[in-house]
Amino acid sequence: MAASSFLQYPHFTSKPRSSSHVKPTPHFLLIKASSSDNPSNATASSPTPATYKGCNIREEARRHSLTHPQPDNNFSAKYVPFNAGPTCSESYSLDEIVYRSQSGGLLDVQHDMSALKAFPGSYWRSLFDSRVGKTTWPYGSGVWSKKEWVLPEISSDDIVSAFEGNSNLFWAERFGKQFLNMNELWVKHCGISHTGSFKDLGMTVLVSQVNRLRKMNKPVVGVGCASTGDTSAALSAYCASAGIPSIVFLPANKISMAQLVQPIANGAFVLSIDTDFDGCMQLIREVTAELPIYLANSLNSLRLEGQKTAAIEILQQFDWEVPDWVIVPGGNLGNIYAFYKGFHMCKELGLVDRIPRLVCAQAANANPLYLYYKSGWKDFKPVKANSTFASAIQIGDPVSIDRAVYALQNSNGIVEEATEEELMDAMAQADSTGMFICPHTGVALTALIKLRDSGVIGPTDRTVVVVSFKDLWYWMVVERISHSLF
Ligand SMILES: *Cc1c(COP(=O)(O)O)cnc(C)c1O
Repeated sequence: MAASSFLQYPHFTSKPRSSSHVKPTPHFLLIKASSSDNPSNATASSPTPATYKGCNIREEARRHSLTHPQPDNNFSAKYVPFNAGPTCSESYSLDEIVYRSQSGGLLDVQHDMSALKAFPGSYWRSLFDSRVGKTTWPYGSGVWSKKEWVLPEISSDDIVSAFEGNSNLFWAERFGKQFLNMNELWVKHCGISHTGSFKDLGMTVLVSQVNRLRKMNKPVVGVGCASTGDTSAALSAYCASAGIPSIVFLPANKISMAQLVQPIANGAFVLSIDTDFDGCMQLIREVTAELPIYLANSLNSLRLEGQKTAAIEILQQFDWEVPDWVIVPGGNLGNIYAFYKGFHMCKELGLVDRIPRLVCAQAANANPLYLYYKSGWKDFKPVKANSTFASAIQIGDPVSIDRAVYALQNSNGIVEEATEEELMDAMAQADSTGMFICPHTGVALTALIKLRDSGVIGPTDRTVVVVSFKDLWYWMVVERISHSLF
């Protein structure tokens, strides 16, 4: 396959499209044209949308920030090698295009914690709380409402957001009481999101930074990822909303229809490749190393800065009371670390005084972390991932293995696994109590069931299960009928 030929594909170009692709005139322009006859409505016919009230929410936000000052922006962040000791001096600006450390290890976004610590925990709690439920740009997003902790230096003008986050956290009372004999089972539904998975949280951060890099004339022609479905849906949506070309590598016949339709609909350059996720990952790494295409996989630590806000949100939704357990389904293992990082930052900056114990739940058909954990962290071996209904976590060689181990060791964490039968049974039980969940959640619930059975999670422990995905028409209808789950 000639890699350079990607760039000749019509969807994969930064030039304007030919006239046959010109979008229809936006509706509000038509309204303006007709109202310009009215001399008293002169501003409506102005060619600059900024003067048209309601048209430009960034302008509105700027006006708003003059009357409601936000904290001085002395905050900053940089890339450092992941888990490097205090003597390590290697670091990179977030405006550099770098994915790995000199020694080939993972990177991490490190915030200037002393600048953040100049404000007490109570200040951050009330600042974050004050931004919930508003549309003020960009704080209407659950990610950007924590902007100072995410990408402190980006201009709000460069942010690409669909006001993701602020997702539902609800009490699964009947499932908890009836099937698990527990009172405090909570479901954090991160899948109620723009493209239907929690990948939106990280992608808004990555695409915003790419938007900034392109405005700085850095060599970024487009953004690419390998995906089990959800990353590509999020990448193509956020890129399309900023007019940035995207390219996605998907394993042929291994992702759901809805996950395939989204990037095609959003105009991404979609390559379906006859390999598995791990094979796609290998290819995209080669392509992004040779071409000016930015790598959007969670190897890229920017994504985790957005994902970590889900943890902060959980604390916020409990009025800054810390739950005992948080269970996260894991595949490439960026998210288990992102949750750890979000909780840990809240503790370090004084918003809370402890962090929950984390549980990473894997499909037994793709369980390299589980095996590693069971070996007492002695012997990590990638596995060949077998097919699982939880397709987004069908990954045998997770990129963020080191991050996951760090998160689990520092949160007194546990790894569990779920067979296909177990995850399907858990789904059916949850559905019978009014939920309607996806197989990834089935994996997480299986972990919970096992830990309740063994008594590790107690009947009064406040436990949060993270739901990562909401794939309405495919999972909820087609798959259920074909597997006769009804
Ligand atoms: C990505 C994803 C996960 C797992 O996240 P990792 O960071 O890959 O471990 C779980 N569920 C869904 C639906 C996902 O899309």
